[in-house]
Amino acid sequence: MSISNSILKSLNMEDKNVIFNENFVENRKIKGKKVLVYKGYLKNNYEYCPVCGCINDNSILKNGTRKSLIKIPKVSELISYLELTKQKYKCNMCNKRFIAKTNIVEYRCRISNNTKYSVINYVKDILLK
Ligand SMILES: [Zn+2]
Repeated sequence: MSISNSILKSLNMEDKNVIFNENFVENRKIKGKKVLVYKGYLKNNYEYCPVCGCINDNSILKNGTRKSLIKIPKVSELISYLELTKQKYKCNMCNKRFIAKTNIVEYRCRISNNTKYSVINYVKDILLK
């Protein structure tokens, strides 16, 4: 198992397209609070263009990156974030641009899916008491 998979497993996430490098976590101050920030890189290996459907014959090229700060559940009682650097792509056949996708977070959302599930479980526990 790779280091990236181990880190994701410890965060209760799963996506083979997310890569963590050395120094993947750091302390920062956000809104005056000490937080943990995990830094990951997201890429996809497109076999075909998700817009026009053409086969990727070196026609889909990297086109910069976009960082997003995603809220994840607390780690060791510290407020935690995943700073995901998402690879952007451009298809030379249809000239459309798109960004790498992951099941960790919904498109254009800044709250991870497992954070949403943990909130639902927390409320469910309260209601069933
Ligand atoms: Zn295309």
